[in-house]
Amino acid sequence: MPSDPDKIILVHTCCGPCAEYPTRELLTAQYQPTLLYYNPNIQPQIEWRRRCDSLRKLADLLELELIVVGSAETEKWELMRDKAERCRYCYNTRLRKAARYARDHGFTIFTTTLLVSPYQDREQILALGHKLASQYKLDFFAADWRPGFRAGQQMAKDHALYRQRYCGCVHSLSESKFKDKILTEHLALENDTVPFD
Ligand code: SF4
Repeated sequence: MPSDPDKIILVHTCCGPCAEYPTRELLTAQYQPTLLYYNPNIQPQIEWRRRCDSLRKLADLLELELIVVGSAETEKWELMRDKAERCRYCYNTRLRKAARYARDHGFTIFTTTLLVSPYQDREQILALGHKLASQYKLDFFAADWRPGFRAGQQMAKDHALYRQRYCGCVHSLSESKFKDKILTEHLALENDTVPFD
């Protein structure tokens, strides 16, 4: 463990591209981030693995510890028809696990790379982060990384990381205008005919 406990932070991380900018910012501010990949909403399992592998590539590049927990939970998400309810459940599931992991492993601060995305519900994530922090006696690092979103995507491109085109769950996949292409890629990956990024 590094020497300054106030600089040790657990970062719930949704994918490699979204981790680029926040981790650089944290490292510049002398934080020591540990990345946690817990995203049962990333579906199907082949996509979960694809994003996990892309994040691992970044973690190796930055020499950061990466903790991987769980797997895709497609059936659970499939049952949730209402979008608002589903996204609420999705944020809650992931951030609660991150807060619990932080508490159980000696972290005092946690955050999430969801705060870099202009496509996520920032207000909901902030409210939840603060609530969980209070519940688990932690600090929630409530950064606004959104101005660095595009820069982060460019960094991911420079690092040749896989950049996904849908949020994560099967519902968001079926709504994506790239659905057919994505499904073809999934099939190719399943059949092992293309290498993972
Ligand atoms: S749209 Fe995104 S945030 Fe909402 S449930 Fe699906 S994966 Fe989660």
